[in-house]
Amino acid sequence: MYQTTYHRASSVDEAASLFGKSSEAKFLSGGQTLLPVMKQRLASPSDVIDLAKIKELIGVEVSGDTVTIKAATPHYDVATSDAAKKAIPALAYLASLIGDPAVRYRGTIGGSIANNDPAADYPAALLALGATVKTNKRAIAADDFFKGLFTTALEDGEIITAVSFPVPAKAGYAKMRHPASRFALTAVFVAQTKSGEIRVAATGASQSGVMRVGAIEAALKANWSPSAIDSVSIPASGLLADIHGTAEYRANLVKVMAQRAVTAAG
Ligand SMILES: Cc1cc2nc3c(=O)[nH]c(=O)nc-3n(C[C@H](O)[C@H](O)[C@H](O)COP(=O)(O)OP(=O)(O)OC[C@H]3O[C@@H](n4cnc5c(N)ncnc54)[C@H](O)[C@@H]3O)c2cc1C
Repeated sequence: MYQTTYHRASSVDEAASLFGKSSEAKFLSGGQTLLPVMKQRLASPSDVIDLAKIKELIGVEVSGDTVTIKAATPHYDVATSDAAKKAIPALAYLASLIGDPAVRYRGTIGGSIANNDPAADYPAALLALGATVKTNKRAIAADDFFKGLFTTALEDGEIITAVSFPVPAKAGYAKMRHPASRFALTAVFVAQTKSGEIRVAATGASQSGVMRVGAIEAALKANWSPSAIDSVSIPASGLLADIHGTAEYRANLVKVMAQRAVTAAG
């Protein structure tokens, strides 16, 4: 047994202040990762600071060409948001594929990207859409946020408050789900920004976590069609290999998922 003190914060400032007063605190959002980790004794925080009821951290907003998802918004709310579905259908679709209904009701975008699981869905959308992560201290471009397996640019005690996504000209997502965990065996998000930039991100594939796929971006820049990806070669080196799939299998999945994502994007 170990002792931990639970706090329900009512504002971001209160959460930050509680963190500052604790010896080894952890923020809690949906609890879908933190609680199992605590049960397994892989983390034993002195204090757990719950962000899930902070009103300023919940909601999906569309303003002009930007979709903003507040950090404690559950995946279910994004998947079913009419505004998100209209502005960036691929993003709402991605949220609808996360886990199972229980995970989607509790899990949140802030918790997902803070955790940065190498097979999580949202990191692919953030990278491909060129999103910005807002925290209580600063704004961080998605390109600078994900730093490798379970590692991000967040500093100790920094709270993600929202993620803003520029509305793209086109975007699509395709995922090969692990049938038991529902995490991505490999999934790819493709986007064409309104300024014409092509951005492609794969999750579940690399040993370093979510990654841009430059070779596919170049092929799609020359010709935005699934067939443009036929001749692309994805090296297996540096890709994940486990009982679920070899690195070569995942290299092939990167291509196949990218082709399906382009088809979905239209
Ligand atoms: C059975 C199962 C299946 C799943 N399947 C998928 C899947 O298919 N795809 C997928 O992408 N994910 C999947 N997940 C993960 C899930 O979607 C959650 O997003 C993820 O577990 C973390 O989000 P959370 O809100 O539960 O965060 P928590 O578990 O509450 O927190 C996770 C970490 O993030 C930190 N944190 C939380 N919020 C903030 C914040 N605002 N600022 C700073 N740090 C913060 C916490 O301190 C903690 O370290 C699955 C989880 C389970 C249990």
